[in-house]
Amino acid sequence: MSRAVGIDLGTTYSAVAILRDTGEPEVLPNRDGENITPSVVLFQAFDGRDDPLVGTMAKHSAASAPEDVVQFVKRNMGESAWRFNSTSGTAYAAEEVSAIILRRLKEDAELALGEPVTDAVITVPAYFDDARRTATRHAGKIAGLNVLRVLNEPTAAALSFGLDTSAEGTVLVYDLGGGTFDVTLMRISAGEFDVLGTDGDRNLGGFDFDNRLIEYIAAKVEEQGGPDLLDDNAQVVALREKAEMAKRSLTTVATTTVHVSADGRPFRVAVERSEFERITADLVNRTRDLTQHVLEEAGVSWGQVDHVLLVGGSTRMPMIRSLVEKLAGKAADRSVHPDEAVALGAAIQAAMEDSAATGADIALFEGAAPVIADVTSQSLGVIQVDPDTGRDVNTIVIPRNSKIPAKLSTEGYTVVDNQTSINVQVTEGDDTNPDYVVEIGSKDLPIPPYPKGAPVRVTYAYDIDQTVFVELTDLTANKSLGTFTLDRLANLTDDQVNAAARKVSSLSVQ
Ligand code: ADP
Ligand code: MG
Repeated sequence: MSRAVGIDLGTTYSAVAILRDTGEPEVLPNRDGENITPSVVLFQAFDGRDDPLVGTMAKHSAASAPEDVVQFVKRNMGESAWRFNSTSGTAYAAEEVSAIILRRLKEDAELALGEPVTDAVITVPAYFDDARRTATRHAGKIAGLNVLRVLNEPTAAALSFGLDTSAEGTVLVYDLGGGTFDVTLMRISAGEFDVLGTDGDRNLGGFDFDNRLIEYIAAKVEEQGGPDLLDDNAQVVALREKAEMAKRSLTTVATTTVHVSADGRPFRVAVERSEFERITADLVNRTRDLTQHVLEEAGVSWGQVDHVLLVGGSTRMPMIRSLVEKLAGKAADRSVHPDEAVALGAAIQAAMEDSAATGADIALFEGAAPVIADVTSQSLGVIQVDPDTGRDVNTIVIPRNSKIPAKLSTEGYTVVDNQTSINVQVTEGDDTNPDYVVEIGSKDLPIPPYPKGAPVRVTYAYDIDQTVFVELTDLTANKSLGTFTLDRLANLTDDQVNAAARKVSSLSVQ
C-alpha cells in the first residue's frame, strides 16, 4: 500500500510532506527541486485545449499573460458562482482550479517517492466554514485523491511542533500567510491537542502588504513626474512582482530600491523599512486585535501562553515577530519552519490515519498516537418557526468553539397526517435573525406515514472535518432513518464532482 501524504494547500504556496520510516516528517521537493510550489495556474491554450502549468513558471507568467493566470483561488473556495474563463473558452470552478494544483502536487510527490500517491490529508484555515471545507474535499476528489481528512492548519503546525519538542502547555499559533491570517490558541498535554479558540481574516495576508507597496511606489513615480501606474493593468501586475521582492528584501535590509520603467523613462523609488512599517501598521494592528480577541474569548491571559508559534511566510517580517513577542512578553519559538510546519503536521496526521486503518505502528510515537480535539469555527443552527410570533428564527444547535465531533439533537412533531418528509434548513452564524446567518443547505428527510403529532428527533452533527450531517430518528418506531448530507447551496453536487474529475483528468497538467 502506498503511504498517505500531508498537503498544505495554501493561498499562495503549497507543500507536500510525508512521514519517513524513521518517524521524521519531511517535505517532498517538487519536480523543480523546490520545497514549496506557488499555488498559481497558467492556462495555456493549444489547439483549443487547455494545458495548465502550475507553480513558479506560472507565477512568473502573471506579468506577461495576466488574463491566463489564476492566483489566490483559495479565497474563492465555497463561492459557487465563481468561474475562471480560459482563453480556449472553458470555465473552471474554484474546486477545479484547486484540483489542478493538487494534481501537480500529487504527481510531484509520486516522482519524489517513486510510488503512486492516492491518500492525503489536506489542511484548511481553522475558520473555514462548511462550504469551504466541502469544496476542499471536492477539489481533492477531482484531483484523484482520497481525502482522509481535512485538518486545520494551526493544528497541523502545532502537531509538528508538539512532537518535535514534546511540548506541553498553552500554545498560540499566529499564521500570517500570503492571503489569509489565522490565529489559534490550543493546549497540548500528554499528546492531546485541544483547540481553545480560533479566529482569522480570510482577506488579510502578504498580498495586502504588497498592495500597500504598490500604491506607495506608484505615488512616488507620479511625484517624479511619471504616469499613474495604477491606471495600467499590465504595469500593476509587473509592479506586484517588484513590490513582493522589495517586501522580502526589507525583511533583511533596512532600505531597498525599486526600478520601474514607464512612458519609456526609468524611475527609481527608494523604500525604507520604517516607511513600509508605517504604511502597513493598520494591517499589523488588525492581526493584533484578532489575536487579543481570541485570548479574551478563551479567557487566557498572555502570561498563561507558554509557546508562540509563528507560521506563514509573512511572519518573517521583523515587525510581526516584534509585535507578537511584545504582546506575549516572550520570544517566539525558533524551531518552527514558517513555510513547512503545516505540511509536516499534515504528514504526521496522514500517518496516523494510515496506522488507524492498517493497525501498523508509527515510528514516531511510543504507545498511543496523539488525539486531536478541535473546536467548531462556526455556530450551527436551524431555522424554526417561533410558535408565538409565527416568524422564522435561527436557533443555534451547536455553538461556536464546541469540541468536534459535536452532536446535538432537537425533538419535534409532524404537523399533518401522513406527512412524508421533514424539511431542515441548516445555518452557520451566531444571530437569531435568519437574515444575518448563512444558510448552508437544506434537506427533505423522508419519514414513514403517521397520524400528525408523530415525534421525531433531528440530530445535527459536525464530524471530525467540521462537515455537517443531519440524522433523523423516528421516535414512534424508535429507529434511525439514516444520516444525510445536506444539499449544499454553495457546493458542487456529486454528479458535478464526478464530471469535474473527468474534465481535470483529461488535462495534461505541467
Ligand atoms: P499561504 O499559506 O497563504 O500560501 P505562505 O505561508 O507560503 O502563504 O506565505 C506566503 C507569503 O509570505 C507571501 O505573501 C510572501 O510574499 C511572504 N513572504 C515569504 N517570504 C517572505 C520574507 N522573507 N519577507 C516577507 N514576506 C515573505
Ligand atoms: Mg499557509
